[in-house]
Amino acid sequence: MMTETHSKVQARHLKRNAYLYVRQSTLRQVFENTESTKRQYDLRQRAIALGWRLDQVVVIDSDLGHSGASAVDREGFQRLVTEVSLGRAGIVMGLEVSRLARNSSDWHRLLEICALADTLILDEDGIYDPAHFNDRLLLGLKGTMSEAELHVLRARLRGGILNKARRGELEMRLPIGFVYDTEVRVRLDPDARIQESIRQFFRTFRRTGSAMATVKAFRDQGLQFPRRIYRGAQKGDVLWAELEHTRALWLLHHPRYAGAFCFGRLRTRKHPDGHLVHEQLPREEWIAFIRDAHEGYVTWEEFEQNLQLLRENAQAVGADRERGAPREGPALLQGLALCAKCGERMTIRYHTRSSTTVPDYMCQRQGIARGEPICQHIPGGELDEAIGKLLVQRVTPVTLEVALAVQKELETRCEERDRLRRQEVECARYESHLARRRYMRVDPDNRLVADSLEAEWNRTLRILTAAQERYEKQCQADRAGLDDKQRASIMALAQDFPRLWNDPHTPQRERKRMARLLIADVTLLKDTEVRAQVRFNGGATHTLNIPLSKCAWMLRQTSPSVVAEIDRLLDEHSDVEIAELLNGQGLTSGEGKAFNRVIVAHIRLDYRLKSRYHRLRARGMLTVHEIAKFLDVSPETVKIWRRAGLLLAHRYNDKGQCLFEPPSADAPTKFRHQGKTSRTTPTIKANIPTTHV
Ligand SMILES: [Zn+2]
Repeated sequence: MMTETHSKVQARHLKRNAYLYVRQSTLRQVFENTESTKRQYDLRQRAIALGWRLDQVVVIDSDLGHSGASAVDREGFQRLVTEVSLGRAGIVMGLEVSRLARNSSDWHRLLEICALADTLILDEDGIYDPAHFNDRLLLGLKGTMSEAELHVLRARLRGGILNKARRGELEMRLPIGFVYDTEVRVRLDPDARIQESIRQFFRTFRRTGSAMATVKAFRDQGLQFPRRIYRGAQKGDVLWAELEHTRALWLLHHPRYAGAFCFGRLRTRKHPDGHLVHEQLPREEWIAFIRDAHEGYVTWEEFEQNLQLLRENAQAVGADRERGAPREGPALLQGLALCAKCGERMTIRYHTRSSTTVPDYMCQRQGIARGEPICQHIPGGELDEAIGKLLVQRVTPVTLEVALAVQKELETRCEERDRLRRQEVECARYESHLARRRYMRVDPDNRLVADSLEAEWNRTLRILTAAQERYEKQCQADRAGLDDKQRASIMALAQDFPRLWNDPHTPQRERKRMARLLIADVTLLKDTEVRAQVRFNGGATHTLNIPLSKCAWMLRQTSPSVVAEIDRLLDEHSDVEIAELLNGQGLTSGEGKAFNRVIVAHIRLDYRLKSRYHRLRARGMLTVHEIAKFLDVSPETVKIWRRAGLLLAHRYNDKGQCLFEPPSADAPTKFRHQGKTSRTTPTIKANIPTTHV
């Protein structure tokens, strides 16, 4: 064996460096398992015994404290691979092969590179040349076994954990507010202040319905929230600090607070770059979930309700759902209007109608984003008016009741807060008593101890004073919020609502703010009329049906009665006459103007009323040429006869053109006779050309 090992080390190997790779998985091992580390460094001597000079031995120990399960993040291992592949390594040394890589693929890659670069491998058992088949087989086996060892170890540990977890007996880190008793059963934390804080947290959430509002309420009331420290010198202590939003969410999502045991809520996966990713699993995929495993702070039903509420809130604050702050424009429902067709929040466009600004509610987000036609367009003038009326109607009768209920609620909450704050002061007082007792007991000659204890006593006294001051200040603030004067003004405001709303001096923005205090949102749908579903804050709903407001052309439309009148008059009168007659009746056009020939003609054409000409023709009236032909005279003669009153004619337009009534059966001879005589009538002007019969 010895000769064989020695024969593997050749002069070409000795020319290059010897690399010693030292590693311990965790920092704890580095500190506690010093023997192993020492053994690893001792391999250096082996290299020297094999013929390398001391200065040729390169120690790579930058991976101390890193797990061998993956090569990612192991800077030392990466460096080792680089050195080998560059052909600088004559030999690579490690205590066990498993020290090099616990991951089979990393290990085989290293072997491959070593074989290519003609690098030897050394561990406590001997020297291997990866270029030789037998050695490589052995090394491969060692690597596989090392990986298997790790796997079995893990599987055993994990199996034990899983079994315990499935029975609900696994001892886990408990969230704040719970402790294990001596028999390892979960109990509520006996510290009354912690318990009360958590109860107050859930009460506040119940009242506000939002995690953010709960955090704000705690902050406004100067309340602190407990948190247990899990690391470092103060491990196990409770830290009182301001409640944060992430913490509030964490509490609301933690099933422990509803008394449930759960295990495997997260799945941890490793990304190719070595980073761990935690993924939340749905409840069906949890490894263990046992309801009513222990006492909780809320019931399971309430816990579920809270989660539902949080989901809804998350939707409500999504980018498309944000309603934003009230702005200056007159649209009352700015930010409150939702589209009933697609659920988007509607935007506003203004237009001017007879010098006032009128809002239109538009659902155009999708339209703009995808270049589609807009979803809904609802005229807002009448809608806003109806909503205003509804508010005035709805607010008055309930105001007193609401005000009283709010009053009562405020008072009870004030008591709860007071109790919590008093507990904080009590805690501080207890601490300072303790410090004082410790100081009193110490031997006064022992200056060093006495000094530090005195400093501690002073510190606790300062904390006590601060807590007391805070308590006083908050109490004052609470009292200030509830004095009679304010109570009276709240009541007055509630009763004043209709006056305030209708006062023309009230800025529109204030009106909008009032609307927001009362209305959660209004869902709009335009059909034959506008249907507005008003959802009040607090859950009540009300549906309004508002007739569609007329658009500009409709407003200027002539009333149907006038059109009917024109239709009737057309039987007997020309446009000019009709205009005069209508004006005489005091009627006006759609735009409110007096009638004239042109307006009547337009209406006649627009409504496709039969013209006077056609009406007369329908009654059998004849044109000049027709009657001339019928009477066998020239048209001029017809005109002359008409002027002489021999023929009856009706004017059908304003140019004096007429249609003639057909003459009776005996007329032609008479006319013909008269026609012949008329040519000699002296009344005929000389310049009128006459045609011969
Ligand atoms: Zn829409």
